[in-house]
Amino acid sequence: MNILVIGSGGREHALCWSLSKSPLIDTLYCAPGNGGIEGVATCVPMAVDDIPAILNFCQDNDIGFVVVGPELPLVLGLVDALSDAGIKSFGPTSAAAALEGSKGFMKDLCRDFDIPTATYARFTEATAAKEYVADSPLPVVIKADGLAAGKGVIIAQTLEVATATIDDIFDGLFGGAGAEIVIEEFMVGEEASFFVLTDGENILPLATAQDHKPVGDGDTGPNTGGMGAYSPAPVMTEEMIKATIDQIIKPTVDAMKLRNTPFKGVLYAGLMITETGPRLIEYNVRFGDPECQVLCARLDSDLLPALMATATGELPDVRLSWKQDAALTVVMAAEGYPEAYEKNTVINGLAEANGIEDVTVFHAGTKKQAEKILAVGGRVLGITATGKTIKQAQEKAYSGVTSIDWPQGFCRSDIGWRAVDRENR
Ligand code: ATP
Repeated sequence: MNILVIGSGGREHALCWSLSKSPLIDTLYCAPGNGGIEGVATCVPMAVDDIPAILNFCQDNDIGFVVVGPELPLVLGLVDALSDAGIKSFGPTSAAAALEGSKGFMKDLCRDFDIPTATYARFTEATAAKEYVADSPLPVVIKADGLAAGKGVIIAQTLEVATATIDDIFDGLFGGAGAEIVIEEFMVGEEASFFVLTDGENILPLATAQDHKPVGDGDTGPNTGGMGAYSPAPVMTEEMIKATIDQIIKPTVDAMKLRNTPFKGVLYAGLMITETGPRLIEYNVRFGDPECQVLCARLDSDLLPALMATATGELPDVRLSWKQDAALTVVMAAEGYPEAYEKNTVINGLAEANGIEDVTVFHAGTKKQAEKILAVGGRVLGITATGKTIKQAQEKAYSGVTSIDWPQGFCRSDIGWRAVDRENR
């Protein structure tokens, strides 16, 4: 069968790397892909949101299954368009992708089905929003309703910042994504991510992970798409996983089915583990990046049948096996990220890093030009390693980082600190 993966990040490199091992695949394509994905798949220059081009490509190249990586094409209805054309794919319909595409939609669903999350209110104009924050305890969390590439959330410590933020968002700080805002209670606890596959009815738990959003060591500086991740997340004990499935995941999958918009694909719950148990921060309707890299590094089964089962309803027949090992990814980004950064700088040492036992370098913002790998994005590489413990995976990943010769790149030096602290206790 021919498979097309949509996307160009570290997530899609990890997915292609996993899928390329499947004996069920004849040709693996990736659109648009990147300099690293070229090594495991045939890259096709198509934008992830060019739905007509993707449909044509699928028809011309006998694509049997499409794996959609990022959220944008899901929210825009790529899965719906493929389904109308008779092509099966991995990911939710546009209606189901609203779980990520509209924070207000997600919060209303939680309210209607008693799913534990922060208390909230939705607003479409500034005056009522300002009155609400004036009566709210600080800090208060202000979010643009729509997709804002991880930047649409502001935690306001003072009323002045909160009111200024409300004005900024309604003045267009996040464009159309901020036409509506959600204001939430600030939850206290440790964050964790939990991933399940679902066919709209059945649930197959995957694994837990933790990521590191702030750009600087010690979780300082502005938020990014993610500077590193590890799996499993020690805070997600068996008891916490069970509570998450029973109180959050299952009610959500049931609710989406009840509303005739069944959710199929991977459901990624961003959780706050509080004193009273897990509470939902957000849903993502696709794999996280870099979390997908640590998940793929730990997976010991063919990924393709599991992804296909979400579309065919055969999820109960799927058994996945996982390495006992932990995995950890250190993201290397271009100096300056998440603000302005230089492009087209040359990266060396990739073969050396990949040559270290248990280390795999996933590419995100790279392109291959005349046999050189150039950095063309903000987050550029994900140095991923497995080990018996998180500490061991951390040591190996950082030895991979040391092998990379890229003067214009940087990374955090403390990825995994929380888990290593726990291991040391
Ligand atoms: P975007 O929509 O811009 O892509 P996002 O989906 O990453 O952003 P969230 O995950 O909802 O946005 O929030 C980003 C971060 O803000 C969370 O990882 C968490 O650290 C913090 N956060 C969000 N909501 C809350 C809350 N209610 N209480 C405490 N912290 C929160």
